[in-house]
Amino acid sequence: MAKRYYVRNTVVPFEEDFTHEFKGHRNICVEDLPPWTQESKTESKPSRRAVSRVLSAFLNTGKGGTVYLGVIDSGEVKGLQLSADQKMHVIDSVNDVMSRYTPPVKKHRYSIKFVPVCDTDDAGNTGATKSLDQDFDPVIAGRPHVLRQHNYCWCDRDAVMKYNAGIMLQDYIIEIKVKPWDGNDSLNKDDGCGPMVNIHPIHDDEEGNCFFRRQASLVQYTMTELARLTRHEVDESCQQKIASLKREITQLQRMKQDSAT
Ligand SMILES: [Zn+2]
Repeated sequence: MAKRYYVRNTVVPFEEDFTHEFKGHRNICVEDLPPWTQESKTESKPSRRAVSRVLSAFLNTGKGGTVYLGVIDSGEVKGLQLSADQKMHVIDSVNDVMSRYTPPVKKHRYSIKFVPVCDTDDAGNTGATKSLDQDFDPVIAGRPHVLRQHNYCWCDRDAVMKYNAGIMLQDYIIEIKVKPWDGNDSLNKDDGCGPMVNIHPIHDDEEGNCFFRRQASLVQYTMTELARLTRHEVDESCQQKIASLKREITQLQRMKQDSAT
């Protein structure tokens, strides 16, 4: 299979919708957001929201979805410049926030991919990239990343040093994919809502908020709405079973009638 890549400044062939979201930044959890993005200008909302919100919403619909970091709202590919260590930072950060949801999210329910961004003239070149930082520095490899804060981590300072030294860092689109809930997956068997109906769990995010995806936006559900939604999903999941039990009852009633006559 040909290596996948994005072309810088082109527009991706899909829009933001129920299962696709674009983010121009990589602030994964709420603590990653720089304070200036949270100052409300008069009545307008904060200019930036953490990636975490949409991940929890994709989990809570049960249908999954993908967040594309490095693609701006218009769908234009900008890319995020990342060293090998910064890629690890992103992975650690996503794992960390998923572990802070209530209930926590197991790793098989999502995946993280770094897809290279190329300039148009590189595109014919099977997505090959320029001479790159691929080396892990043995001194700093394994050094824990500083998560849950908006200041530079050591990996960011190291990347700036590399950049200043003329080392080219690759740009990527980070694809964080939440898989649709699969009640038959044995890895999910203990996480469904009960032994009778295996519908997906609802996760509060790291701030204790419960988000859902509705078309291309996020909504916060009240307990009443949540109860209605759950009832609907339970109904759906039970319908087949109810139908087959009804058939069985009818059959038994017939057998009983037959034996009585
Ligand atoms: Zn780091």
